[in-house]
Amino acid sequence: MNFAISRHIGKFIVERRVVLLLVLAGLFIAGRSWLQEHPQHNPWAPLDLNHPKGWATQQKLLALREDVDLCRAVLERSEVAFRVLEPAGDGECRREDRTQLSAYPLSPDTPATTCPVAVAMELWKRDTLDPAALEILGSKVSRIEHLGAYSCRRMYGREDGPWSEHATANALDIAGFVLADGTRVSVLSDWPGEGDKQRFLREARDGACGAFSTVLSPEYNAAHADHLHLDMDDRWTSVCR
Ligand SMILES: [Zn+2]
Repeated sequence: MNFAISRHIGKFIVERRVVLLLVLAGLFIAGRSWLQEHPQHNPWAPLDLNHPKGWATQQKLLALREDVDLCRAVLERSEVAFRVLEPAGDGECRREDRTQLSAYPLSPDTPATTCPVAVAMELWKRDTLDPAALEILGSKVSRIEHLGAYSCRRMYGREDGPWSEHATANALDIAGFVLADGTRVSVLSDWPGEGDKQRFLREARDGACGAFSTVLSPEYNAAHADHLHLDMDDRWTSVCR
């Protein structure tokens, strides 16, 4: 009698386990196919800049800082045209990674940067600059004016202290924007105030924070009154001021 009851209980427990396993397997399969349809949320899916931004995007962007080949594969996969220039420079200003975007609308020229900066520039333009300019100012961005990427120097041009990210062109300084309808937005003259140009500049700064690891605006200090400093510093926290 007792033996029969415990056999029944045993069978019940085994069946419950089977049901639980089936439920878990179902969830696993559903989750996997959901991730396959949403690669932007999937930490194992290769980064493609044509996908919308997702939970896994930032982490994948940060990982590119350690792997130039992985980074260039992202540009290729995303069909972003670029050229690879020969390494140059010595010491702290040695640049192993010189990646030059072919069709990015930088002005007066498009300098070679590190590949992670190039990838972040692409994302920034697509996710922030184009939609924000269209929404706030009614015209797309046609030129992005910069003050330079490479400069072999320490931070703020000091005699000692840490080297600037510009020493390896792992940074870019943005001075302003020209829209397709000819409107000009300058960081120096349009940052102060409350109008549409000001709103656009703040959106441009905030959006850059999702793509670059460091973003410094005129709100940070007087040295940045005339530009947005963007870089891909390899520390693990991002800075956005
Ligand atoms: Zn800078």
